[in-house]
Amino acid sequence: MRLLITATHLWDGEAACSGSATVAVEGDRIRWVAKGVQAPRRETDEILDFGDATILPGLIDMHTHLGINHRTGDIKRQMQDPPARHVAAGMESLRADLESGVTTAKLNGDREFFDIQVRDAIRDGVTRGPRLAVSGRGIKSSRCTGGVVATCVVDDAEAVGRCVDENIAAGADWIKLFSSGSVFGALPDVLQPFYGSAQLSVAASKAHAAGKRMSSHCFGGEAADACIETGVDAIDHGWLLTERQLEAMAKRGMWLCPTVGVLTHPEGVLGYLPPGPARDDAKRRIDEVCDVARRALRMGVPLLAGTDAMHGDLAYELATLQSLGAAPPTLLRAATSSAAQALGLAGEIGAAREGAAADLLVVRGNALQDVGRLTDVLLVVQGGRIVQRG
Ligand SMILES: [Zn+2]
Repeated sequence: MRLLITATHLWDGEAACSGSATVAVEGDRIRWVAKGVQAPRRETDEILDFGDATILPGLIDMHTHLGINHRTGDIKRQMQDPPARHVAAGMESLRADLESGVTTAKLNGDREFFDIQVRDAIRDGVTRGPRLAVSGRGIKSSRCTGGVVATCVVDDAEAVGRCVDENIAAGADWIKLFSSGSVFGALPDVLQPFYGSAQLSVAASKAHAAGKRMSSHCFGGEAADACIETGVDAIDHGWLLTERQLEAMAKRGMWLCPTVGVLTHPEGVLGYLPPGPARDDAKRRIDEVCDVARRALRMGVPLLAGTDAMHGDLAYELATLQSLGAAPPTLLRAATSSAAQALGLAGEIGAAREGAAADLLVVRGNALQDVGRLTDVLLVVQGGRIVQRG
């Protein structure tokens, strides 16, 4: 049976198409996309006409985690839960992502290669969840004060290289390492580099030689300079990047995944930090971080969108970036075609086009004018199967 989905607005992954459109889904593929509602029909077609709504490719969260969820308390404790509990909680988080319209997610580090096992279980139809691109065990220095999800703890360049090799051999799709620390605390501590050019260039060249990309958790400072110089593909957070660093990223075409929502959302890091200096720092830093994000958007730094384990809330991240000055097409591109390109899956996902995987989201109203509409989910289709109806 064929599924025909019609709505008054369509985002095809790269551009908005004016006027009504119909997307035909057959098997796990998009068969065709036609303008208007008068598309060729068969008697056996299932027709879903949503009227004033927007059809988009399923969204792609470029920074989340399997085993942590900011809404369910202390993420350090969650990383130490017994294995079955850790994975079971992670599956619940991924279900929330899928039902919100995230049909693909990049996981940025976990323990014991659980993310690789879950990716394969979803791919093989054992369980439901977003398609996953995974990083295996995140890599950090023994001096690193952040990165609870980084379970490969090494210092010198040779050992970092070994961790990259182990992750690739285990089946990681991306390499993730932590080059600066936690955002809370005095500025010199926050910007203290844990890895320099030696470690970063070994990791990036090994990743690239294996056809993988690499992102670095980095707030700024010398570590950011090292990321920019050594060919790291993306910076996660980048909350304290300078104008000069942002300019260099824009020039190099280096991605920034700012994850501001995890800091601004009341249920993000502020939701569980107990009253005290760390919480005060976090609150104080919100304005500063928003200013940096605003500048990055204005300067056209290539953008990716990620929640950092605010599961089911990619729409909140996009709405926050919209409030900081990003135009809806920039944001929709970040969450669809740009993310697909970063994952090496351009045209396969993040595209409402003929021949692409049938991963689709329909939301009420016009999301092309206001990405805040993305919370009003009417339909989620993944691999041609309806996985959520609003
Ligand atoms: Zn993270």
